[in-house]
Formats: sequence, C-alpha cells, structure tokens
Amino acid sequence: MPPAGGSLGLRRLINTHMEIGILALQGDFSEHHDILQSLGVSPRLVKLPRDLSGLDGLIIPGGESTTIGKLAEAFDLMTPLRQFSKEHAVWGTCAGAIFLSKDAQRSQPLLNAMDITVARNAFGRQVDSFEIRLPAPFLKDGKEKPFPAVFIRAPIITSVYGDAQVLLTLADGRIVAAQQGRLLATSFHPELTSDTRFHQYFVELATS
Ligand code: GLN
Repeated sequence: MPPAGGSLGLRRLINTHMEIGILALQGDFSEHHDILQSLGVSPRLVKLPRDLSGLDGLIIPGGESTTIGKLAEAFDLMTPLRQFSKEHAVWGTCAGAIFLSKDAQRSQPLLNAMDITVARNAFGRQVDSFEIRLPAPFLKDGKEKPFPAVFIRAPIITSVYGDAQVLLTLADGRIVAAQQGRLLATSFHPELTSDTRFHQYFVELATS
C-alpha cells in the first residue's frame, strides 16, 4: 500500500498556511475549490504559469482532457506543470488523471508525469455515469465506510508500471486509482460528493 501522509500531516496543517492550486482552464475546478476551503486549506485557481508560484500542491479537475491539454499548451503551462509535478503533490481526477498520464492511447497533449496508461471513456455510452461504494483502507475509516466513487465518462487505468502503484480497483479488478509518490490519479470524481476524505488524503500527501 502506498504511504499515506499520516495523521502528522493534518496536525501540521493546523500550524502552517497551506495553499493548494486547482488548474482552472476547464472542468469542475470550483467543486474542488469549495471542498479545499471547507477543509481549511487556501485554494488558488491556476490559469497562468505564475499562479503556480509558492503552491504546496495542485489538483487537475475533471472535464475534457483534450481541451485541458490544448488550453495548457496555449497558456504556456505544459513545461511549468511538468516541472511542478516533479517537485510537488499533484492529483488528477478523471480528465485530470488522463492529463497526468504518460499514455492515453491516442494523440493529445499529456503531462507524461505518471507511469500509467489510461483508456478514455472506458465504460461506454450505456453507462455514462454511475456511483460505486469502494472500500479504501488508506482513507479515514475507509474499511468500514467505503468511499462513494462517482464515474462520469470515466477512463480506466489499463496499466500501472515503473514507480506507480495501484491504489484502488473495482470488484472485477479494473484499476481506478493509482499513486506514484506524491502524484495521485483517480478515474472518479471525489469533488462531486460531500465526502471530503479523498481531499484530506491529498492534503496530507502535499504536506508530507
Ligand atoms: N471523458 C473525459 C476525457 O476523456 C473525462 C470525463 C471526466 O472528466 N468526467 O477527457
């Protein structure tokens, strides 16, 4: 199991002023913003390279990965984002996970940050969106209280290699979350639920 930030992380949170960025080019960045705020973390919307300065971590939201990638190119964010992900905690949800990957099995701008391959829209049209309760032992009370995972035209992580590790699978073994050091990829959208435990986990990761 990949290392969690541990309870020390949250304790440190109380003493330090943490700022987590949310890439705000396209997608559901405002939902991430509100959850971070509810956790007492200062969120900062990132639209330009200079917005990354001084951040403790970054979230790349769900949306449309091709659009996020094209806008990141247009705003000269690709190199700064790649550099940032080498030095800080970065979490991609759904489209954000695709954008973090090294391979999306088609040509589109990617950060090439995580040793994962993804298959976009892997659940097909019939099941555009659904919610599953996933046991997630690394979250607070995650064994007894499974996490409500919301999937919307979601990707599957088809392979995890190199330094990346599988974090969560569906009951049939398909991979829906991976971690590589302080990089995190989830196929689903914790920002669309009222359960803040995944955000807490990421904040702890960013402090570790
Ligand atoms: N299907 C989108 C993509 O391939 C991701 C959907 C989402 O973020 N909910 O980029």
